[in-house]
Amino acid sequence: MQADSSAQRALLLIADLETQMAQLRHRKATLPEHAKLAELASKRGQLSEQVIASQTRLGDAEAEQERIEADLMPARARRERNQKMIDTGAVDAKALQSMIAETAHLSGRINSLEDTQLEIMQQIEDETAAQSRLIAQRGEVEAQMRTLLGGRDASGKELDAKIEQLAEQRAGLAQRLPTELVALYDKIAQRVGGAGAAELRARRCSGCGLELDMSELKKHANAAPDLVLRCEECGRILVRTEQSGLA
Ligand SMILES: [Zn+2]
Repeated sequence: MQADSSAQRALLLIADLETQMAQLRHRKATLPEHAKLAELASKRGQLSEQVIASQTRLGDAEAEQERIEADLMPARARRERNQKMIDTGAVDAKALQSMIAETAHLSGRINSLEDTQLEIMQQIEDETAAQSRLIAQRGEVEAQMRTLLGGRDASGKELDAKIEQLAEQRAGLAQRLPTELVALYDKIAQRVGGAGAAELRARRCSGCGLELDMSELKKHANAAPDLVLRCEECGRILVRTEQSGLA
């Protein structure tokens, strides 16, 4: 292929713009906010699990409290009924004896249930407080995440704008070059996963680093300036400049 030497050199500008764009894309992908956000998301997940565990404990304690209440109600009613009968003397001596014994037993049971009830109430109070702290912590983590997301989006937008600007420059430049040359460049760029052209600099392909041997250098030195050269190693378009070392 033949192309004006100035068009060939313009390919190096295109390659440079692409490198700048790749660097900006890399910066966007590795913004420090990404790592911090991942860390906070994991922290938030842990706190949510702790909140759920706390809710389960609270639910169990409340159910236990209801069970105790359900046991206490009939025991209290029975004790009250017994006490009335004892007070009014509505039973005979023998029945009175057993009723007094039963009332004493009921009182013991009621006391024990009431003690347990107090313990559970304390548990519920403690668990409710612990849960509020966890929810507050999670709220703080979420607030930090929102701040970071805002920062990440702002940085991302800024980088996107710069990338877009470079892409426009590249498109404008490519438009002024021969279509065939740009098509060849793009084809090579796609294959090598990078720039499709490289400077022949100090007798080396600056794309792959291969040093050209003497016969090749001689061939290139004698080639017409508008002949498009290719690197034998990587296939990139080899662009001659004053730094090529061909003279
Ligand atoms: Zn090469």
